[in-house]
Amino acid sequence: MSFVKSPQGHYISTLLAGLEGVDHAFGTAAVPPLPGYLTLHQVHSARILHASECSPAAEGDALFTSEQGVFVGVKTADCVPLLLYDPVRRVVAAVHSGWRGTVLNIASGAVARLGSSCGSKPVSLHAAIGPSIGGCCFEVGPEVGIQFRNIFPERSDLGNPTTVDLREAVRRQLVQAGVPAAQIDADAPCTFCGGTEFYSWRRDRIQGQRMFAVIGLKTRR
Ligand SMILES: [Zn+2]
Repeated sequence: MSFVKSPQGHYISTLLAGLEGVDHAFGTAAVPPLPGYLTLHQVHSARILHASECSPAAEGDALFTSEQGVFVGVKTADCVPLLLYDPVRRVVAAVHSGWRGTVLNIASGAVARLGSSCGSKPVSLHAAIGPSIGGCCFEVGPEVGIQFRNIFPERSDLGNPTTVDLREAVRRQLVQAGVPAAQIDADAPCTFCGGTEFYSWRRDRIQGQRMFAVIGLKTRR
């Protein structure tokens, strides 16, 4: 498992790319968003919406669908973009998990919602945790750090200025929710120190510069 660059300049999870019936892409600063995907007004919540509930004004941070040819997406610049696919129940989800969403555990919320709404079993889910700020660069104060104590119980430094690895946090939440570790692709580049091909809110502080991550079921012919 790893991330590779597609000929179009997207980052692709080799885990998801190796599965039948699904298309996905993680955009960069150089590659504009694909047209035609559904996305929400993101509010750092744990709200998960079905694609049919999506509108330009709809607020939430995860979208899912089991309809072929419908692409769902999230926009990020340091926050974690998480794409989920269940090849058994044929359902996909795009999740925005910034530090607030991670503290709210939107990742496991999405796993639970796919179960209750679509019959997805966690053991069938495959996940790609895309380019986002890494543990190398995400500096937090104690007011944020202490909120990660349940996720990183082994750490005694979260009450001091330190760094937090959001991608590892999301990976652990998925594993705890029952997604097999071998079905999680989590080694994408860091947006902060990965170079200018990535937008990074913490590095550049430019409003509106966000990269897209999209996933959808291929139309069967
Ligand atoms: Zn970094």
